[in-house]
Amino acid sequence: MKRREFFAASLAALPLAAAQTGTAMEQPRASHSPARVLVISAHPGDYCSRAGGTLIAQVKAGSKVKVIWLTHGETNEAGVILQQHPGISLPEIRRIREAEAFASAKVIGAEGQMMGWGDNPLIVTPERMQTLARDIADFKPDIILTHWKNEVTYATHWLTSKSAIEAAQLANGSWDIRFFEPTIGTATRTGFVPDEYVDITDVFDQKVQAMKTLTAQPWIVEYYTTCNRMRGLESGRHYAEAFVRWAPRPVVQALLNGPTSLTSR
Ligand SMILES: [Zn+2]
Repeated sequence: MKRREFFAASLAALPLAAAQTGTAMEQPRASHSPARVLVISAHPGDYCSRAGGTLIAQVKAGSKVKVIWLTHGETNEAGVILQQHPGISLPEIRRIREAEAFASAKVIGAEGQMMGWGDNPLIVTPERMQTLARDIADFKPDIILTHWKNEVTYATHWLTSKSAIEAAQLANGSWDIRFFEPTIGTATRTGFVPDEYVDITDVFDQKVQAMKTLTAQPWIVEYYTTCNRMRGLESGRHYAEAFVRWAPRPVVQALLNGPTSLTSR
């Protein structure tokens, strides 16, 4: 699969993706070979709340999806575990969070890999960077999804994005990197303006089930339902997930053949 066909392969990809592939908006989509999608997520729930619907759609379309978590989130994102179990040890928190991470991936249909490189601070040594690069090279993704490169309001997410970009470069492939949502409420401050949307309406219930496995962060279901509804309103769908492409390709057409707005039907 060509990388630019990635989102067109989603069950309900939007007209923007159709414009990129040069197909007419209302034409039925040709079948595509499955993509290999790698998600590099800081914490156990980040990838799920921001891109879980897209990943579910990709899996249903036959894509191979893998998520790599850099940290268990044992401090900053341990949430109710710390409230409900005062004095709980860090190894025990890590065990709980890792179980949640893999449970969410199972609902999505993704393979998982936990790096466990610490939380607040997340430490990415040169050796760990080489490990990440090697794992990227081994998986051979068509697409890499990761945190917004300018999420400077959350250092662990920012470092994860930078590490993903650097590791992809070290892995020496022609990877297509796309950034998912920053933490809800910070998109405006961090300049996250989506240039690609994926309609996740048909798989939204399954995304909610995946988010519910992340019991240390029960609020994400409400937060990212709101986020997905807002992105849906922006794109003329009910629920949508939004992305920014690392290096968007220009749309080239022979003629201006009418409206290409996301909200056009
Ligand atoms: Zn996080």
